[in-house]
Amino acid sequence: MFVHDSLPMRVVFGTGALDRVADEVDRLGLRRVLVLSTPRQGALADRVTGLLGERAAGTYDGARMHVPVATVAAAREVAEELGADGCLAIGGGSTIGLAKALSLRLGLPSVVVPTTYAGSEMTTVWGLTEDGRKTTGRDPVVLPRSVVYDPELTYGLPPAVSGPSGLNAIAHAVEALYAPDGTPVVSAMAERGVRDLAAALPLVVADGSDGAARSLALEGAWLCGACLGATTMGLHHKLCHALGGMLDLPHAETHAIVLPHVAAFNLPAVPEADAALRRALGVDDVPGALRSLADRVGVPDGLRALGVAHEDLARVADEVLAAPYRNPVPPTRADLERILEAAWQGSGPELS
Ligand code: NAD
Repeated sequence: MFVHDSLPMRVVFGTGALDRVADEVDRLGLRRVLVLSTPRQGALADRVTGLLGERAAGTYDGARMHVPVATVAAAREVAEELGADGCLAIGGGSTIGLAKALSLRLGLPSVVVPTTYAGSEMTTVWGLTEDGRKTTGRDPVVLPRSVVYDPELTYGLPPAVSGPSGLNAIAHAVEALYAPDGTPVVSAMAERGVRDLAAALPLVVADGSDGAARSLALEGAWLCGACLGATTMGLHHKLCHALGGMLDLPHAETHAIVLPHVAAFNLPAVPEADAALRRALGVDDVPGALRSLADRVGVPDGLRALGVAHEDLARVADEVLAAPYRNPVPPTRADLERILEAAWQGSGPELS
């Protein structure tokens, strides 16, 4: 038996789709939206503000990684001063995270324009960071009301971001294929998402302005993000959450390094997921293909290349064992140590 419960999802996808943002804002009946971005993407926020005309009440370009509560408070003040009735977030997971926080705190609906492959726009998961501690939760109110994907906006995403970010998206699909709440619809999205991203990422890294490859990668990221939004993640996400939270590691790179090792551990126990990934990647050896994809798109070679000290691995294993996520094979301490050791070493030993 399964239950499939679709999240409401409106997607406008295509080259030049950015020109549709005003229509999307009108569709929601919004008249005074606050445009959100990071400082680095301020020029893009200005472009959107121009496209929105009088529908734009103002801009807040202070979005930051991990959605600090101080940033949310500052953006909230701007939103209240301007009498904003909605948000338009343009950027990656950090900017979309800020829009979600404003939806949570003020009930503001959002239109979002993703410019990375992180996938947050497809989930009801919000996150907030205070005093170095990240709290997350799920609430339908934070789900964007409309998502505008324009591949042109990703041409400037550097190879060092595109590769790991794409593998991070693939990780959502891999775990969705064996999730306890997976369904045939989710599996179809996951297989297609992995196929698209695996085909596109090497091309995107070779030539960032390859329009067809950028479009395929963004389509894959959408599908993988939707898998994340629809299911409960397993050991891979738990491990990456523990590693990232305890050792302050870069999010996407950590996922990209750990994924082949967890795939090697889990896939023998879930033949249907393994078969779907073999089809998607066109190979017999899924963990090996994930690792060679990571190598080809410039993912750092092992957790040690991210500066992780070997003695920290035991603490991470403790954290995972203390509050495990559901996983096809419940890992023992020895399993976790083996997976972490292999992920730390990188290309040294064979996959465990
Ligand atoms: P990010 O949003 O932090 O962006 C990284 C940097 O790249 C920023 O400076 C940004 O301005 C810049 N950038 C973004 N797009 C660009 C482009 N096209 N060209 C040039 N520069 C660009 O990074 P991210 O990986 O998108 O998001 C990571 C965050 O999202 C993490 O905090 C993660 O926890 C969160 N996340 C949340 C969910 C969820 O469901 N809530 C899902 C996935 C990720």
